Amino acid sequence: MTGLHFERVALIGVGLIGSSLARVIRRDKLADRIVACERRQETLDKVVELDLADEVTTDPAAAVKGADLVVLGTPVSAYGEIAQRIGGVLRPGAIVTDVGSVKESVIRDVGPALPPGVHLVPGHPVAGTEHSGPEAGFAEMFADRWCILTPLADSDPAAVEKVAALWRLAKMRVVTMPADHHDKVLAVTSHLPHLIAYTIVGTATELGRDLQSEVIAFSAGGFRDFTRIAASDPVMWRDIFLANSEAVLELLQRFSEDLTALQRAIRRGDGATLHDWFSRTRAIRRSVIEAKQA
Ligand code: NAP
Repeated sequence: MTGLHFERVALIGVGLIGSSLARVIRRDKLADRIVACERRQETLDKVVELDLADEVTTDPAAAVKGADLVVLGTPVSAYGEIAQRIGGVLRPGAIVTDVGSVKESVIRDVGPALPPGVHLVPGHPVAGTEHSGPEAGFAEMFADRWCILTPLADSDPAAVEKVAALWRLAKMRVVTMPADHHDKVLAVTSHLPHLIAYTIVGTATELGRDLQSEVIAFSAGGFRDFTRIAASDPVMWRDIFLANSEAVLELLQRFSEDLTALQRAIRRGDGATLHDWFSRTRAIRRSVIEAKQA
């Protein structure tokens, strides 16, 4: 018995992240009913086949009616319209949370559509794979990862604690921080690395045909890891760069300067600079492993 219990959980978007959360809620019996809402019937059919929900619908308003917990799990560009559609039917006291990879835009797009008495608790479980859809999810995906909640200054502490408790049951370590800080941190740890991977893999596909097949055949050295990251969902990543453009552009400027410095070191045969740089980055890798995030 965990003590955390919801009557009706509405999951709007039951893809990789939403379906993994549905599996946690099912496993730990955290809700009387789970309602799944998707855009396409085909995806809902998969949700039924996988027994991830008690009810399914393509109508977000029908899904959230009577729900005490609503979780937005679609690409973030869909949030604004969904918020408009559900705002008028949310039950007083309901908690609306989300799993989006950017947080300031969520507060901007969702917040104004919610009526007084409904609690918005934006969240980001920093866990995932390069796969998408309900069949790709699994309950253990969140284990030992961080979940970042970005409550607003006037967020109800009890609502924030309930969402935190949910993610703790998913075995996540929960931390809170302001939304703008989240977006800056994630620009460094996630958004820029994805942009670099998309660029490198894109550059390789521009190469001549002969070279391209060799790149694929001999991809063990580094390139293969980039292809995994660059296989991440195009819609989700388009949305992230559009929503977090300011932080990403600022960081990209610094990255370009550092890249130019390394370029200069290579051109000048400056081995000391290269060695010093690579030694520092190696130490970072060790810290990541020690923090159990590898
Ligand atoms: P996903 O597997 O593609 O799932 C997204 C789901 O949303 C799909 O099942 C899709 O259903 C549904 N959907 C799309 N537009 C919709 C709409 N307008 N109304 C209702 N349902 C809609 O994506 P995901 O990886 O779970 O990502 C979902 C969210 O989690 C994103 O906001 C992302 O930023 C965040 N996130 C992702 C990761 C990751 O590693 N993937 C990690 C942390 C957070 P249809 O098939 O019907 O279109």
